[in-house]
Amino acid sequence: MTDPKTFTPNLVTVDGPAASGKSSLSRTLAKSFGWKWVSTGAFYRALAYVARQRGVDLGDEEGLVRLAESSCWRVELDEERTRVYLQRSNQASEQDVTDRIYQESVGSDASRISQFQGVRRSLLEAQRQCAVGVQGLVAEGRDCGTVIFPQAPVKIYLTAASDSRAQRRAQEQDQDWAEIQRAQIQRDRQDSTRKAAPLQIPEGAEVIDSSNMSLEQVVQEAEKILRKKLLGL
Ligand code: C5P
Repeated sequence: MTDPKTFTPNLVTVDGPAASGKSSLSRTLAKSFGWKWVSTGAFYRALAYVARQRGVDLGDEEGLVRLAESSCWRVELDEERTRVYLQRSNQASEQDVTDRIYQESVGSDASRISQFQGVRRSLLEAQRQCAVGVQGLVAEGRDCGTVIFPQAPVKIYLTAASDSRAQRRAQEQDQDWAEIQRAQIQRDRQDSTRKAAPLQIPEGAEVIDSSNMSLEQVVQEAEKILRKKLLGL
């Protein structure tokens, strides 16, 4: 297990429901502090996507764990988006499937497989490794402040009204917002009621409700929290 002593001291977690703006906030914070950021959801999305590609049933926990531990896919941190690469079947090259994994249908599949404790355990080490050997890390997801990095000095819980979250994602993906909202409600219910690492406000987290805030305002609020908690300003 990765020793938490090797984690960067500049560790910020951002948890919250689907499309609450976690990635936009994390990306912007990371840029302004010169740190890395990771969407831990990309690991679940990648695994769900690979499972579909390789014909592994999304209800087959053992098969999913085997796939999680195989080297046929990998996640790469990037300034803009956490990227996912898949080994092509001839093994000679990789395919960048980043654009595909961020579709809402893959989010729903990710939510289905994320309820398995075995699956969660098999992805945990790789997620923790993101905090090693870096100047700072903003990690966003559902259990970043509770399970992946419970010792993080700064924890944010970002939420927003269901309507604004669905509208945001529908605009980004040019899709019908009512349909997106239905999928998000179902996904949030699944994520917050599951037994393994359910979505919840981590102890000591600062809650930001972004329903009536611009990204700029959310970033300002988060920067204030960071300065206070990390630098005592
Ligand atoms: O954050 P994102 O929408 O990419 O996450 C996709 C799904 O992955 C979530 O709905 C959730 O089921 C799962 N997830 C999780 N724990 C995390 C991040 C994501 O269970 N830390």
